[in-house]
Amino acid sequence: MTDQEKKIKVCVIGAGAAGLCAVRHLATNTVFEITAYEQTNDIGGTWVYKEQVGLDENGIPIHSSMYQNLRTNLPAKIMNFPDYIAMEGREPCCVSHQEVLKYLKDYAQHFNVYQHIHFNTKVEHVRFVSSDSCGQDNWSVQVRKLKTDEIELCYFDAVMVCNGHYFEPYVPTITGIESFPGLILHSHAYRKPNEFSGKTVLILGAASSGIDIGIDLSEQAAYVYLSHNHDRLTSSLPSNMIQVAGVESIHGTRFHLKDGTIIDAIDVFLFCTGYKYNFPFLDKNCSIQVDNNYVTPLYKHFINIEHPSMCIIGIPTVVVPFPMFHMQVQFFLALLQNQINLPAKLVMLEDSTLKTLKKRHAHKLMDHQWDYNDSLAVTGGFDRLPLFYKLGYQIWSIQRSTNLLHYKNSKFIISEDGQNVELVLPE
Ligand SMILES: Cc1cc2nc3c(=O)[nH]c(=O)nc-3n(C[C@H](O)[C@H](O)[C@H](O)COP(=O)(O)OP(=O)(O)OC[C@H]3O[C@@H](n4cnc5c(N)ncnc54)[C@H](O)[C@@H]3O)c2cc1C
Repeated sequence: MTDQEKKIKVCVIGAGAAGLCAVRHLATNTVFEITAYEQTNDIGGTWVYKEQVGLDENGIPIHSSMYQNLRTNLPAKIMNFPDYIAMEGREPCCVSHQEVLKYLKDYAQHFNVYQHIHFNTKVEHVRFVSSDSCGQDNWSVQVRKLKTDEIELCYFDAVMVCNGHYFEPYVPTITGIESFPGLILHSHAYRKPNEFSGKTVLILGAASSGIDIGIDLSEQAAYVYLSHNHDRLTSSLPSNMIQVAGVESIHGTRFHLKDGTIIDAIDVFLFCTGYKYNFPFLDKNCSIQVDNNYVTPLYKHFINIEHPSMCIIGIPTVVVPFPMFHMQVQFFLALLQNQINLPAKLVMLEDSTLKTLKKRHAHKLMDHQWDYNDSLAVTGGFDRLPLFYKLGYQIWSIQRSTNLLHYKNSKFIISEDGQNVELVLPE
């Protein structure tokens, strides 16, 4: 084989939605030699519901944060990868986690992804080895086969990190928490509401998980206090779910809140405080740093500026993840094939500077996600996302904020020309 025909050996870490999307696109071009590693025995990552908490059958921490009654908080229609629209999600627009997992399995089957995945294989160490005079990078990846405990060392030209971002709980320090005699847990370990029957639960944090788990729990718990420091939610909530201020300190079962009020007789303290980005397998010489959930140095939130043959898929938050993975992956593959010239390093470093007041908001895209996805498509020379993603997201955000109890049951309607989306609430 001549140098020109030499394959580009790519390592994909993880077989959740991001890793599957990476393999699906790599597999369309014979220039790539693909090796994907997945530490569990299945694809789907977050969407694989496991009833147990703690360690899995391979002795590694349970990765998924899925709970029994979870329904998507986004309309399923806009969760589809644009090249595989199989979740119709017309009515109700939000579907069960089982449906999403089935979708991912169908996607993997459809694009012949399975053959490239090494299951029960955990990536333990990734090191940048060298860069040759033509700028060709070399990476070493050490994996452990969890069934046999064998260790293997392999070498690659590029690495796509797709290890997920919702498995390492973030738990803030709370004064006096050691005096609390009740149950303390993080949403990562929440599974079913009936375990909380008749209890008084205080949930800290009112982002997606805090709200959704609060509503789920309110069916069984005596009271659910939703404690947070943001503007009060304006939507109606279950009658036994009460918004209160953030927690200042704890004295036994008494919780002192930031507005001076006290709530007594709390049985369960549930942290819905989010997750930390964590790349435990990246050697220091990969040059990736995480400071308060601000990951640097990344160009466009995903290309490692020091070594652009490495990317981390899925860092942006408050986005529609699957279609964004689709865009990031295509951009990275265009880069590996020299179809894109990256800007000068100084320009990329400027792109990676902090532009938000708090580091932990550095990767929040929200409404900017559509320009972001478009910019990847324009530079990468591939199709933009169809308009219904953006329209669906916009109408969804409005409806969700005003009707948390019912928005998931709405009917999702796209006009024939694709230029209009409606979400119709059930009667
Ligand atoms: C509770 C919850 C609800 C959500 N609801 C929605 C929703 O309604 N709609 C939506 O679009 N998104 C939702 N999300 C976001 C969801 O995380 C993304 O949609 C998406 O599934 C993330 O995919 P991923 O591949 O990046 O990560 P994951 O799904 O986390 O997959 C990562 C994979 O990497 C593997 N892995 C990790 N480390 C290693 C290693 N060292 N070696 C080998 N393998 C490794 C893991 O085992 C896992 O299979 C939700 C997330 C959570 C936690």
